[in-house]
Amino acid sequence: MPDVDPDAPLLTAQAQLSRAVEILGYDAGLHEVLATPRREMRVAVPLRRDGGGVEVFTGYRVQHNISRGPGKGGLRYAPGVDIDEVRALAMWMTWKCAVVDVPYGGAKGGVTIDPHAYSSAELERVTRRYTSEISSMIGPEKDIMAPDIGTDERTMAWVMDTYSVNRGFTIPAVTTGKPLAVGGSLGRPTATSQGVVHAARATLADAGVELSEVTAAVQGFGKVGSHATRLLHEAGTRVVAVSDERGGVHRADGLDVPALLEHVSRTGSVVGFGDADAIDNAGLLALDVDVLVPAAVEGVLDADSAARVKARWVVEGANGPTTSEGDQVLADRGVVVVPDILANAGGVVVSYFEWVQANQAYWWTAQEIAERLEQRMLASYRAVSELARAEQVTLREAALTIGVRRVAEAHLIRGLYP
Ligand code: GLU
Repeated sequence: MPDVDPDAPLLTAQAQLSRAVEILGYDAGLHEVLATPRREMRVAVPLRRDGGGVEVFTGYRVQHNISRGPGKGGLRYAPGVDIDEVRALAMWMTWKCAVVDVPYGGAKGGVTIDPHAYSSAELERVTRRYTSEISSMIGPEKDIMAPDIGTDERTMAWVMDTYSVNRGFTIPAVTTGKPLAVGGSLGRPTATSQGVVHAARATLADAGVELSEVTAAVQGFGKVGSHATRLLHEAGTRVVAVSDERGGVHRADGLDVPALLEHVSRTGSVVGFGDADAIDNAGLLALDVDVLVPAAVEGVLDADSAARVKARWVVEGANGPTTSEGDQVLADRGVVVVPDILANAGGVVVSYFEWVQANQAYWWTAQEIAERLEQRMLASYRAVSELARAEQVTLREAALTIGVRRVAEAHLIRGLYP
């Protein structure tokens, strides 16, 4: 028997789909269509090291479902990337795009590499070779990439350039999350975090509570967690703890967030920030706060850690931070979970705006983007929370039901070929 980790992201994603299929009453055939990735590519990515010598990495691109439009999803560089993780992340992108009703399917890419261990020039070569290897699969009408863990706007510029140079003209819409100078969108770097804050504000409002009245802890201080911390602080929330992969800091009276951001930009980590106590990642999840924002990696809230959560609300900035068992424990304990496919969808919403702008070669103002993001997040939240209330299901079950149903409807109305 292979040793299968019950908390593996793909099993979590599959269990979530099974639950949605059960709620929707779909048959086994439709379930299998929805569960099966449409297209997958695995490539070798050889890198010539700066000092000479060659190393070979493995890269993946998975298009989980393209019934509603081109594949859409990030590119992850992390040492633990494997095909099953990419499949899970691609499946979550499918439901996420459907929940916020952007006309995309779901996709994801990854390279099994620790980006901290390589120079910028080496990462550029890895990115260009990976892009070249998968280039038949991507394109503005086929599959559009964006940053994820371990990649950033610079990575997206390299992907866009490699793809464009090989076709002989500039094609900005092949990636989103690009630098402004090459067709990026205003508001994209903070969009995921902004969406997390919109989702948090909306779910608290359902309980008659405002962001300025609560305490929060944020796990992860990357592209999502750092901006979420700042935006929560600006909304008046007392952020009492933050962490990154090296550890965390805690101050019950609230962290001095501007000083923390300055410390991180100087040292590269939240660790060692003065006027706060050290706390580890497990300790942060168990803090007595109102709002917990897991904004790091998958699987951190399993049955054990979920049993220790004291927060009343969990707002998922990361993809898949809660396992199926963890989800059940949180639900049984009355913790409200705003699920990833809704809470962190602000990123892909503004990615969609970036793609629309690139396709029209006409760029919107920061205010237009901020307003449209807020509208879409709030409308999506409202639809999910109304369904949850009407059907007496969790916000995750409601979000999955909406997302899965939209994808299934597109699939069914298009019909099966041949
Ligand atoms: N990687 C982000 C996510 O998981 C963004 C995806 C995108 O904008 O395409 O949602």
